[in-house]
Amino acid sequence: MTKKTKEHFYSHLAQTSDFPIGLEIDYATSCFFYIKDGRRIVDFISGIAVSSLGHRHPKVVQAIKDQVDKHLHVMVYGEFIQKPQSDFAGLLASQLPESLQRIYFTNSGTEANEGALKLAKKFTKRSKLIGCLNSYHGDSHGSLSVTGRGVYRDPFLPLLPDVHFLKFNSFENLNLIDESTAAVILEPIQGEGGIVPAEQDWLKAVRHRCSKVGALLIFDEIQSGFGRTGKLFAFEHYGVVPDILCMAKAMGGGMPIGGFASSDEIFEVFKNDPPLNHVTTFGGHPVSCAAGFANLSVLLEENLIERAVLIEHKIKSKLKGKGIVEVRGKGAMLGLELESRALTQSVVEAAMGKNILLGWTLHSNTLIRLAPALTIPEEVLDEVLEVILDLIALFKNK
Ligand code: PMP
Repeated sequence: MTKKTKEHFYSHLAQTSDFPIGLEIDYATSCFFYIKDGRRIVDFISGIAVSSLGHRHPKVVQAIKDQVDKHLHVMVYGEFIQKPQSDFAGLLASQLPESLQRIYFTNSGTEANEGALKLAKKFTKRSKLIGCLNSYHGDSHGSLSVTGRGVYRDPFLPLLPDVHFLKFNSFENLNLIDESTAAVILEPIQGEGGIVPAEQDWLKAVRHRCSKVGALLIFDEIQSGFGRTGKLFAFEHYGVVPDILCMAKAMGGGMPIGGFASSDEIFEVFKNDPPLNHVTTFGGHPVSCAAGFANLSVLLEENLIERAVLIEHKIKSKLKGKGIVEVRGKGAMLGLELESRALTQSVVEAAMGKNILLGWTLHSNTLIRLAPALTIPEEVLDEVLEVILDLIALFKNK
């Protein structure tokens, strides 16, 4: 059975890399993967910032089971009143500012960004879009169009027209944002670009400029949302509220769901002209919404967002200096910048040899991504940090 599964993976699943990690998962629980060959692996990247409560949190699993016993898909988005969708929207809204009280549910992060870009174009009746260099917003055409990295965009040109890029954290070209701009989209903490937090003054200046010229500001918090940075959403660190907030990843406690939140006024344009002008069959799937509701409830009730801050303090104080160029990021969304690609690769590979899964980010090869579950037991965290320090010392001296 196992051999067949492996063969099917390599022979029949479309591959996105010549070197997939290729671990055959038996089951996952807390911050551990259990592998078919008997190994237990520490998941120190949470399926790329997804399983913030750990894998299969019992309350999330129970909510999924309860919903499965009631109904699965019943109707396309927006027609029937489905308790999991409505309750999740209500709970989310209770945690968001006045201007973000309405939410559209999608299946994924890139779909949230697609919807946000369309919403901004329709609301402003403008078409110019602005992204940031080194950003990542997803792999569908619209999201890729505003992703600020040539290597990912170039093979797919032409993408959306009239897209321009700001330098992240630079005041240099803010006047690109003008009266013809529909939206500026940015990650308050760039994820794939190498875990780079926005600077407060810059984010405020972008907000100011957007408000001045009537462009909408979209925050892509697909990676930074749901407590990962020590606030429910990273924008709360800055006191800068976007016009549209995009979310996904950790939103469903391991189930696929995304969404974009905005105001009643802005969402009004989605109702007509053309009729049903933005619909989805599966967006806001009832099982995903039930999981999302349970996930957010646990996050809030068990003070896990504060745990992200404790994790940040521990990792930064243990790892700062010690052969590391920089530890950056917020909460449990952190990156370790090392001296060279070779060192980074050696540490990540050797950690895997010690049954610890660390990660890369898409745009950087000298950065180790650290994104443990917010529920990671203290002793596991300590153990992983010791291993990282030992490995850096070992390979630096080679
Ligand atoms: N935006 C950001 C900031 C992301 O990190 C990602 C995924 N890495 C996406 C968008 C795309 O999300 P998805 O893979 O769910 O489409």
